[in-house]
Amino acid sequence: MKRINLKKYPKVKLIEQPSSIYHLKRISKAVGVDIYIKRDDLFPVGFGGNKLRKLEYLLGEAEKQKATHVFTVGAIQSNHARMTAIAAKMFGFEIELFLKKSVPVKEGSYFNNGNIILNNIVNATIHEVTDNEKAYRAIEERKLTIEKESGKVYVIPVGGSNALGTLGYVDCYFEIIKQQNDMRLQFDLIATASGSGGTHGGLVVGKTLSETKINIKAYNVEPDQGELALHTLKIANEALELCESKISLSASDTVVSNEYSGTAYGIPSDFHIDTIKFLAKNEGIFLDPVYTSKAFTGLLMDIQNNVIKKGEKVLYIHTGGMPGIFAYPQYF
Ligand SMILES: *Cc1c(COP(=O)(O)O)cnc(C)c1O
Repeated sequence: MKRINLKKYPKVKLIEQPSSIYHLKRISKAVGVDIYIKRDDLFPVGFGGNKLRKLEYLLGEAEKQKATHVFTVGAIQSNHARMTAIAAKMFGFEIELFLKKSVPVKEGSYFNNGNIILNNIVNATIHEVTDNEKAYRAIEERKLTIEKESGKVYVIPVGGSNALGTLGYVDCYFEIIKQQNDMRLQFDLIATASGSGGTHGGLVVGKTLSETKINIKAYNVEPDQGELALHTLKIANEALELCESKISLSASDTVVSNEYSGTAYGIPSDFHIDTIKFLAKNEGIFLDPVYTSKAFTGLLMDIQNNVIKKGEKVLYIHTGGMPGIFAYPQYF
């Protein structure tokens, strides 16, 4: 297997050791496919989750640029915004979140529980906006004000999903290869949720650079398709350039499944909620209502429909998001 050297991109340390992989014994037996789960949800910082891998590189770059402030964008219950806020505070940055009221829910808990409580505890400044365009306009205005006061702003895009953030999941792919060798296993498939493409893109880049052959399946968490696959392709190709690779990926390398994504971002369907209960009751592991329940539902449906064949070994990456459960009490 080929190795790569990403040392020239400075990282802050948010992750001490590889996330564990467990076999889901009861569910594997029930469905006839060996499902393993990689617990990126259990990283010790800030209630864990996939964004920490990206933030190691993104905040490393913010330090390199001598930024004083970090800004980012997300939905009101964004896990990315919460982890960015917590991690940025750990390294002494001021943090401002531009949170979009884009999800059609009215319950108060969506606006004052879950991730919002964690943002408040670390004293993140929150600006509520209506959409992406308004968010980026507000960011430009705040940036000017801070620069006038001699501060320097580092802006992290939605989900931390640019080429640099994506390198976090290139690292993850190499980590998985090492773990499967240590466990004397060979995974046939890695499955993950996809929202802004960085996790999926990084895994595809890792696979490409390592010249290994595990299939990768990404489940979109919203039904609208086109842009996500294209954005994933774009940042994956840019990440390959950062890795000094001459390989260029094509659209068939970043296909995203949207069959089981429900009606909209941030809105779980009954069958997603059933998946949360199924995993909690059988394995004691909790999925979140926005991302991981949708992807795990897709995985179970693909097994039921024989898209994933009996006897295959699947690694599901638990990308986090559990604080979101407390923003949606009406489903439980
Ligand atoms: C952001 C997020 C994802 C999606 O990851 P992307 O890299 O944005 O595609 C999946 N699960 C959880 C819990 C997330 O917060």
